[in-house]
Amino acid sequence: MITVRKLATDIGIRVKATRNEKRGARYLRKKFEEFGYRTNVQRFEVPGGTSRNVVAWWPGAKRYPFVVGGHMDSVPGAPGANDNASGTAVVLELARIFAGTEQARFIRFVAFGAEEYDSDHVSNHDGSVHYVEKLGEEGRERLGGMLSVDMIADGRPLLVGHSNIAEKPVVARTVFNKMDKAGFDVRFITLCDCSDHGPFEHAGIPASFAYSGQESDYHSPSDTAPNLSSNDLLRTGRAVRAFLIHLDKAMLDRFRRA
Ligand SMILES: [Zn+2]
Repeated sequence: MITVRKLATDIGIRVKATRNEKRGARYLRKKFEEFGYRTNVQRFEVPGGTSRNVVAWWPGAKRYPFVVGGHMDSVPGAPGANDNASGTAVVLELARIFAGTEQARFIRFVAFGAEEYDSDHVSNHDGSVHYVEKLGEEGRERLGGMLSVDMIADGRPLLVGHSNIAEKPVVARTVFNKMDKAGFDVRFITLCDCSDHGPFEHAGIPASFAYSGQESDYHSPSDTAPNLSSNDLLRTGRAVRAFLIHLDKAMLDRFRRA
């Protein structure tokens, strides 16, 4: 909850390419570095200015690991606690937990900018589109897969799935199975192309999302830290960890052969 409060309460509304989105990015980068990660900030232009992704990896990590990401921006007028300080908080907390472990070599943590539409509704998912472009052809062929953690702290069961763009939902099925086997209340669904996994799927990279379902504070001024469930936040963090602990070379290879 510390990260959620930092982003949604202390910083507040984080519309893409605004000063507050940048403050969020700076905070996250600092935390990743405190945990011992290397970081890179990818800057890119969006309507109205510059947005950025914060990318973090453990020294010596695999070149083509598995990406776990969440977007840090919010829509105008909304503090974006559940959407998506919650997912960003899960990404950061998992980075803290895996820091220094063998497992960290298989994971790249990303806080995406500019996932949301701005008020002009020109484009969305700009940060993940930029990330996928920057992977280059080889990266797009070899990256292990991706999981987007977006709006995950206000609802049960946890919904896991894909957008049916990539041919085989191998990552989504595996994420679901590992969480289900670990005893989490999780359901498999096919959802709209409406989070940062979309650009990965479009590029042929097997990708998945975790989502706790629609809720009444969505994109509204009431999407605040007190209005989400810290239990649901914790649940999602533990569920994603239950998948990540199984990542190894064989699993990454299997994702790309599927
Ligand atoms: Zn979102």
